[in-house]
Amino acid sequence: MDDDRKKCSDDANLFEDIKQQFHDIFCSSTGKFNAMPVFVEDKSAAHGQDENKAEDEAKKFVEKIRAFSMKPREIKDYLDRFVIKQREAKKVLAVAICDHYNHVKQSLGSENSPEREYNKQNVLLLGPTGVGKTYLIKNVAKLIGVPFVKVDATKFSETGYVGSDVDEMIRDLVKSANGNVEIARYGIVFIDEIDKIASSAGMEGRDISGRGVQINLLKLMEESDVSLFSQTDVMSQIKAAMSMGSGSKVTTINTKHILFIASGAFDKLPDIIKTRIGIRNIGFNSRITKESDDSYEILKQVSTADFIKFGFEPEFIGRLPVRVACESLKANDLRDILTSSEGSILRQYIDDFAGYGINLSVCEEAIDKVAKLAAEEKTGARGLLTILERLFRDFKFELPSTSVNELKITDSCVDNPEAELKKILEKCP
Ligand code: ADP
Repeated sequence: MDDDRKKCSDDANLFEDIKQQFHDIFCSSTGKFNAMPVFVEDKSAAHGQDENKAEDEAKKFVEKIRAFSMKPREIKDYLDRFVIKQREAKKVLAVAICDHYNHVKQSLGSENSPEREYNKQNVLLLGPTGVGKTYLIKNVAKLIGVPFVKVDATKFSETGYVGSDVDEMIRDLVKSANGNVEIARYGIVFIDEIDKIASSAGMEGRDISGRGVQINLLKLMEESDVSLFSQTDVMSQIKAAMSMGSGSKVTTINTKHILFIASGAFDKLPDIIKTRIGIRNIGFNSRITKESDDSYEILKQVSTADFIKFGFEPEFIGRLPVRVACESLKANDLRDILTSSEGSILRQYIDDFAGYGINLSVCEEAIDKVAKLAAEEKTGARGLLTILERLFRDFKFELPSTSVNELKITDSCVDNPEAELKKILEKCP
């Protein structure tokens, strides 16, 4: 570990030297490359054009944010087209998004007037895997038209020398905005597996740097200036030197208007909640029934104290004031995903077969069966992918090379795709 740190420190010094040398070569009036007019002129002209294009794009984007006028119901209605269930999460998210971008809009409109106190509506989504947490945010970002990036909290470390630096996600956001810092400033960062950075005091999570990562993250969530160039990455340091050479003034991005949305399964959290409120109270106060999704009903009652017990620093969890639980998905929900979601994976398969001139149709009973098998996987909507991939694998390989132009999937086909495929192939001329 010490060796690693020393090496990184040596590397950092080395790159400081390289940076200085780049600067001397490209920027000093006596530098020999400056004596090559063609090289310098061509590069700066192209650079100037790029900068103008980026400025135009940023201006248009900022105008779009200034014109933001969406209402929470409008956002929920849009999400309903893609995401099945998660009614509460959609509502809470829609309100948080409207509040956030209305605030951004106000602060863009009043550059000279003193800014009012504002608590950012960063969101925490709780719930099992594959129920649509990421999908919700992706669709919201698409609707608003802001850059979006998803990162996995497990890859962060406190120092940046082991694993990855938390600032890296902001640089990733800049990348997703095609390098346009002005646009990235208003983007959305989605941090998955946030429960894995609970400190050792909690029930689960990695011990090594949970607390340190939380402290670093909370600074980002509030407001900080992040360098566009990583201190530990060689290429990044060279780019930093080049940018100094080209006279570019933008070297940092401020995170004040970036919305952070964290999510996690929080498997052990229901136990903490149950201990706090007592199981009898849960039964009395809430609508928990035998059939209901118990974890969901319990997670709905989560308090800040429960998160602290779980292993989050009070200041950290305080930066995620909007919290909402997502429901698990049952077989009938998975069925609805296949038949009604605009982003249904089944549509993708229909398009894939259409690409070979094959018309794919799936009967009701087959859809029911696929949904039932997918629910048994216990991975939410991801189970649909697993079952459909298994079902269609050989059809996708064999049929495009035949004269077949119609594929009807029945429930017996779901039970035994190999036999069905064999029958089709035997009938082929
Ligand atoms: P997670 O909750 O783990 O973030 P994802 O949102 O990544 O899960 O879900 C994986 C995929 O499953 C999505 O891209 C989407 O296609 C599908 N999916 C998951 N939940 C839903 C849902 N509630 N409605 C429609 N599709 C869903």
